Amino acid sequence: MAFITPDLPYAYDALEPWIDEATMKVHHDKHHVAYTTNLNAAVETTPLASWSAEELVARLAEVPENIRMAVRNHGGGHFNHSLFWETLGPKAGGKPEGRLAAAVDASFGSFDEFVKLFSAAAMKRFGSGWAWLSVAADRRLEISSTANQDSPRSEGKKPILGLDVWEHAYYLKYQNRRAEYVDSFYHVIDWKKVGSLYESAL
Ligand code: MN
Repeated sequence: MAFITPDLPYAYDALEPWIDEATMKVHHDKHHVAYTTNLNAAVETTPLASWSAEELVARLAEVPENIRMAVRNHGGGHFNHSLFWETLGPKAGGKPEGRLAAAVDASFGSFDEFVKLFSAAAMKRFGSGWAWLSVAADRRLEISSTANQDSPRSEGKKPILGLDVWEHAYYLKYQNRRAEYVDSFYHVIDWKKVGSLYESAL
């Protein structure tokens, strides 16, 4: 198998009460595993099996047309969820520090303004998709939203934080109350990790 679903870096119930154990189990063990399985099935007999998930997502135009949609959806799903798990954590939340904090202030005015804009991106995404904080090609921070499993990485940006707003990410606990799930997200963001991804992206 070329691609492997990474284990969660914490227990399934570690993000309680903000993200519940049952959701984490089905989200990681069923949804993410399915993306990884389907990605492997799409690329296993091709030279793409030796690419990283990031390369696949960043270089979609080079993927043969007959498997491009499968790589876009399942490669994106694998790449996006791998980032998602590692930027969350127990006893997290708070605010970014250091150079990332300065960049947030420079790009959005303040952390509170960042929260408003990021939440708006998450709420306005119609149907399934993600809200993102990315480092753009000019090294500025940018908030965006994508549909389905599309990644800002396919647009030349480097995502450092993503919020999954597919219903599978919150429906068991929050049902149709996406806004409550979005508010809860800020309690489980591991800003130290996001900060290190920011440093790597520069
Ligand atoms: Mn998901």
